[in-house]
Amino acid sequence: MDGIMSKKNSEYLIERNDNIYEVVIGLEVHAQVTSNSKLFSSSSTKFGAEPNTQVSLVDAAFPGMLPVINEYCVKQAIKTGIGLKAKINNKSVFDRKNYFYADLPQGYQISQYKYPIVGEGNVILDMPEGQKQVGIERLHLEQDAGKSIHDVDPSNTLVDLNRSGVALMEIVSKPDLRSPDEVNAYIKKLRSIMRYLGTCDGNMQEGSLRADVNVSVRIKGSTDLGTRCEIKNVNSIKFMQMAIIYEANRQVDLIEDGEEIDQETRLFDTKKNETRSMRSKEDAHDYRYFPDPDLLPLEVTDEFIDQIKSEIPELPDDKKKRFIDEFKVSPYEATILVSDIDTAKYFEEVVAKMGKNRDMKLAVNWITGELFAVLNNKNIEIAQSPISAKNLAKLINLIKNGTISGKIAKTIFELMLDGDIDPQIIVEEKGLKQESNPKALEALIDKIINDNREKAIEYKQGKEKLFGFFVGQAMKASGGKANPQLINEILKKKL
Ligand code: ADP
Ligand code: MG
Repeated sequence: MDGIMSKKNSEYLIERNDNIYEVVIGLEVHAQVTSNSKLFSSSSTKFGAEPNTQVSLVDAAFPGMLPVINEYCVKQAIKTGIGLKAKINNKSVFDRKNYFYADLPQGYQISQYKYPIVGEGNVILDMPEGQKQVGIERLHLEQDAGKSIHDVDPSNTLVDLNRSGVALMEIVSKPDLRSPDEVNAYIKKLRSIMRYLGTCDGNMQEGSLRADVNVSVRIKGSTDLGTRCEIKNVNSIKFMQMAIIYEANRQVDLIEDGEEIDQETRLFDTKKNETRSMRSKEDAHDYRYFPDPDLLPLEVTDEFIDQIKSEIPELPDDKKKRFIDEFKVSPYEATILVSDIDTAKYFEEVVAKMGKNRDMKLAVNWITGELFAVLNNKNIEIAQSPISAKNLAKLINLIKNGTISGKIAKTIFELMLDGDIDPQIIVEEKGLKQESNPKALEALIDKIINDNREKAIEYKQGKEKLFGFFVGQAMKASGGKANPQLINEILKKKL
């Protein structure tokens, strides 16, 4: 990419005419709260329903309808706040953010503004060069809008209100991110924490996680913030990264040309890979915020918060520490294993099922190697794994106790894919047990040496490379079932 000076580790710098710039990024992530019903009405939030089938009179903003706060959504927001190690505010206020748009029937969005439910917190990123802490400014609750549909009717824009009123958590970061790689790590970590907590499913394809990306640049070493542009509603990490790279380079070019950056709202055109101006940045007063008179300030007691605290499960950072301590996996392996809650669950189930004589190295390698490859290939999640943790543990134990070789295990693994078959049954039915009987192996090796007498002599005369040839022949003759260690020992003795 033109303009990158160094991209060692996670750093992203841009060089122009002897000036070195760094990128400053802050994200406003909109995370859909996992909840069966909406923030202020009892309509369903199920994804993929027919348009306008999940709309109550409240969501459609019929006159006289009153919002009623959904306690479960409040709980979910507090849970998330605790997961972000943030301060939970006993009192927060819902405001009306006024603007006109066809998919916003109320004419305003109910959103917390001055007094959010969650205050400052932080998130730890595991970067290749070490850990990095990113500040959280706040988390507030708000309603989602409906959806304008432009590509169904040739002459009209249609509106689907199913999403209208769905609860969102807006999680605002401090401007602490410095590169596309850090943004990637940050989004993944937020997603991971919320999936552990069950507060947002993190499904970006379904729009459960979207972000506004704020980007500015400054001379590296400077501590002042440059003027930012906000890129609206980007719904994939890849696009966020592309948008940041484009936008940062655009801003550097402007500055180098002696021009000023306009603080504005831009959108990212994924087809052209560029950001375009949408409008100049609106100020808070443009929205005429005021407390929603239909809603009382939201008050939560310490007891309520403590109750939620007591229900918080083990989160990724703690799980990582425990995996390192308890299972002696490396920090790198632990990071991979805990990154997704379902992977962590699967791993722990394999460990449990392996029993006393467990082999962590094998477990990690089989999960992150063979199993991940299959999931990738089939484009499925580990929760839909075609091989259960129980049967993978069995396979690993068969290797560990010498019943099968690692090589045969790969064959068996392939066969197991066809309906999560018990590896023990495959071993028995196909006769794949490792041959570890020295007598049988000796006979087999005698025959090979006999059949290849010249090579045996060459070996004795010093052509040591031929040892591999004999091992190969022995493995082949046994149909891959010979115990490789025994083969080595016997060959050494006999040659
Ligand atoms: P607004 O609603 O006006 O966008 P918010 O406070 O909700 O304001 O969000 C501002 C976001 O922009 C935060 O994520 C913050 O970290 C980020 N931000 C603020 N200043 C800068 C800057 N100079 N460069 C990059 N990001 C910034
Ligand atoms: Mg913003």
